[in-house]
Parts: sequence; structure tokens; C-alpha cells
Amino acid sequence: MTVETELGTAAETLTIASGDFDVQRISGLRQDLVAPTDPVLLERIKAEAALKAAGFASRMDEDGFRGGFAMPLKTWRLSARFGGQRILNGIPQTPHYGADLAAPAGAAIMAPADGVVALASPAMHFEGGLTMIDHGQGLISVYLHQSRLDVRAGDRIRAGQVIGAVGMTGRATGPHLCWRMKWRGRNLDPTLMTGLRPPF
Ligand SMILES: [Zn+2]
Repeated sequence: MTVETELGTAAETLTIASGDFDVQRISGLRQDLVAPTDPVLLERIKAEAALKAAGFASRMDEDGFRGGFAMPLKTWRLSARFGGQRILNGIPQTPHYGADLAAPAGAAIMAPADGVVALASPAMHFEGGLTMIDHGQGLISVYLHQSRLDVRAGDRIRAGQVIGAVGMTGRATGPHLCWRMKWRGRNLDPTLMTGLRPPF
């Protein structure tokens, strides 16, 4: 990988290991949460996709990532790993680009690192209560299915600050936090940022 800036060029060779991923079948979901057809709902989903794209396009000149990342919950159980193939109501979907952390409804979600809130939207169709935090340089962490949001877009937040509460809003079959992360459009397993290594 080569990084070029006006200060110079740095090159580093990265060894990429292959991963291993699960297949997860979930049935009995409401059909509008899997393959919606209602035109009004499709318009809403399109508008929400634009909101999310704008959140992921946030590029704050910050370095909140430098302090490292903590887990966003005090207690949790990994209920679905990052990257698994999802088959919902029998329909294959895009891989699951999050780590699902099962926790009691109402449990506090804490910012894993410093940052600025890029999006805080309480009732998205698929994601439910959704928050995105820009940690700087295009690294965005994402929190889905919240029962409560405690921050607003533009808020500057510190590591450990409570940003909301665990819920099961949107496409969720039980209370959990779906924790996601993107760096400049690429999906990352956020648990890797904490230094944790499976199995856990
Ligand atoms: Zn998830």
C-alpha cells in the first residue's frame, strides 16, 4: 500500500490473511423488512440511503482514532460475527457488515473513541435508531437498532460518553447493538479495532 501526501510518500507491504465467515439463516421477518414493494416505503428507503451515504461521506479533520477503540458496551455477547452471509426469509442478502452484540434493552452505548456525530436518526426503516460517529480521516463507526439516541449530528463526543441505548428498532429480532465501521467506504470488523481477537 502506498500513501502519498504533499509531505512525501510512504509505502508499506501488508499481508492479507483469508477470513472465515458464517452463514446465518433468519426466517419469520416481516416481508417489508426483507423485500419491500410498497412504493411509499421504497421512497423512504431511498431517502434514508442518501442520509446514510452523506454520513459515510463525512470527512472531519480529526484524529479521534489515535487513542484506540474500546467496546461500546460494558457487557455483551457476540450474537453474529462480521462478514457472515445472511439468508433472510430464504432470500440471500449482502454479507452482514457488522458485529451484533446482544445486550439488555436500555443498556448504555458508549462512544469507543473521540469523534464528531455525523448522523443521528431515531427511526430508520432497516436500522431503527441509528448513530454514526466520524473519528477522523474517513473512519466512521455506526450504531444500529437503538431504543434511544442521546446525541445529535455535529456534537463533539469523547471516548466513553453515552451516546444512546440498546434496543431492537428496525430489522432486529431481539435487543442488540449492531456495531459497524467503515473506512473511506470499506467495511471493517469494528471488534478488531479494540484489539480483541476471536474467539470471544
Ligand atoms: Zn447486525
